[in-house]
This record gives sequence, structure tokens and C-alpha cells, in this order.
Amino acid sequence: MFDAKELYAKLSRADAGFYTLDTCHTIAAKLDRIAELKQRRNAVILAHNYQRPEIFEIADYIGDSLGLSLQAAEVKTAEAIVFCGVHFMAETAKVVNPGRKVIHPNRQAGCSLADMADEVDLAVRIKDLRRQFDDLGIVCYVNTTAAVKALSDACCTSANAIEVIAAMPNRNILFLPDCNLGRYAAQRLPEKNVILWDGFCAVHQEIEPASVEAIRAAYPGLKVLAHPECRDDVVRLADAALSTAGMVKYAQNSPAQMFLAVTECGLSDLLAIQVPNKQFFRACKICRFMKMITLDDVISSLENLQPEIVLDEGVRKGAERSIRRMFELTVKEKIPPTLLNEID
Ligand code: SF4
Repeated sequence: MFDAKELYAKLSRADAGFYTLDTCHTIAAKLDRIAELKQRRNAVILAHNYQRPEIFEIADYIGDSLGLSLQAAEVKTAEAIVFCGVHFMAETAKVVNPGRKVIHPNRQAGCSLADMADEVDLAVRIKDLRRQFDDLGIVCYVNTTAAVKALSDACCTSANAIEVIAAMPNRNILFLPDCNLGRYAAQRLPEKNVILWDGFCAVHQEIEPASVEAIRAAYPGLKVLAHPECRDDVVRLADAALSTAGMVKYAQNSPAQMFLAVTECGLSDLLAIQVPNKQFFRACKICRFMKMITLDDVISSLENLQPEIVLDEGVRKGAERSIRRMFELTVKEKIPPTLLNEID
């Protein structure tokens, strides 16, 4: 049973204005209902770091794209995976664990970055670039559809983009869809010719260097942590450019007491809850897609086991190959068991 007072003490650290004791009574009742349905349906709930704070309360695992893919692949006994994140993430869970029912509680929760590259445009661009570069390799960020992953040689996340591109045998690499992450990696890999796709995350692109500089000037000693999806002039101001999971670890292990997390606001909420003894400032923007999934959506998805992610098997296998390649190029020992059977 969830206790409203305990919830209030915890959630109000994330957003003191929104979570009142009354709201927490309603939230506690919904969380109890979800806990009951989860057991009845034999389901696990995975949640991305940018989700609403109350969603964290019912998640079996909270993480970034890489952590969630690994976790999804390891779900063995549960019948369903309820994926609280955006659509491409739920697709990735289905790609790595096709034997489970993957439920995405709100169909509208897409991703503006993933929408910037489709498989038709990618096929045309590859054909075009291969006329100039016969060794062309394709690396796609995990924020892509399964169909785009299926056309790529390797997938990557913000935590391992540099490592994946560095390990590709090709000198010429088309990186898509995020030009900011691609540029960030290219700056650190002068031996590679990284060709950027013209895409970006609308949320991270809106964060301005002036807002970071103002907070840093006001709080000497503050550590600035920026996501590499941010613009170059923002990332250059950071003490560290990190994935969301990297930011959580950094804040937990650093001797510093004050941090500015420059990314989507959900991460600041999570940091405030998970690292309560330190102080977090915000230069963040809200991703409306990440906030679309509500507790009511989770209840409805568990009641009906819908909306389910369904993928064409050819596309799924192609996407699985590019995800497997990511692990082969970086941490082979971490390859999820479900992907192992096709490795030589
Ligand atoms: S923050 Fe950007 S990249 Fe992440 S889900 Fe939202 S739109 Fe997509």
C-alpha cells in the first residue's frame, strides 16, 4: 500500500508546487491499483529517466535508453513489459525481446528527434553518399524507429556514441538523426569523417547558453552536467557531457554539492528524489512527449494489455542486428542473452 504522506515528502522534492497532500492521496490510490494489476498481469514496468515523478514510484527499473534496452532483453518470466517512455524505446524493447508482449501506454508519446529521420529518406541518402564514399558506414542513434535501425550498420546511445563510431571499421560514417550528438562525437574523433544528418531534439535545442551562464555565475562551485543532445555552445560550458544515467552517477559520486542538469526537466526531478542530500538547479526544458504517459494510461494499459507494439519480423531482425553490433563494438560481455544466439 502506498502512503500519501510518504509520497508527498518524496514527490514534493521534485516539484513543490504540483504535489500537494491531496494530490498524493489520489496518486497513492492509483499506484495501489497499478501494483495489483501488475501482479495479476505478471507484468514489469520500465520507465525512462524523463518520466513523471509518480511513474518512477511504480517502475521496476528506471534508466536511460541503454539501461532500459538491457533490462527489456532480460525480462524472462513476466508476460508483459509496460514501457513508460517514448515510442521508439518501446519498439526497442520489442526488438530485443520479441517473445514478450510490449505495451506502450500512450500511442501519442512519440519523439520529435526520431521523427526527423524515416527509412525512405535514409535509403535515398545512403544511395547518394555511397557514390562518393564506397566505405560508408551508417550509425544511428537509438532515438530512431526500428525501420531506420534496420537500415543502419550499428546503433548507439548518447553514452557510447563516441565508442561505437571509433570502433567502426569505416572512415566515412553517416550519423543520424541528431546533429548535436554527432558533432560532439566527431569533434573527439578527428580520424573519422562523420557526415551529419540534419536532425535535432526540439527540447534540447531550445536550451540557451545564457541560462546556463547565469546560474553558474550565481553559484560558484556548481558543476554543470549537459546532455550531448544540447547545442555545441551549451555543451562547451559543461563540466561533463553525459547521458542521463551518467548524470545520476556523477551527482552521486562527486564531492560537489551543487549541480545544474542541462537536459529534459524529468532528470532534475529524478536527481532531487534519488540524491536528496545535494542541491540541483535547473536549466531544463520539458519534453511534452515524455510527460504524456499518466498513471491512468498505465492502469488502462494493464487492464487491456493494449496498445501493444507490433513489428514486421524483417524490420525487427534488421534492428536487432544493428543493436547487437553496438554491443559487439563496445561491451561484448554485456550482450543480452536474447541477442547472443546470432553471434558467431
Ligand atoms: S527529449 Fe527530445 S529526444 Fe528525448 S524523447 Fe523528447 S523529443 Fe525525443
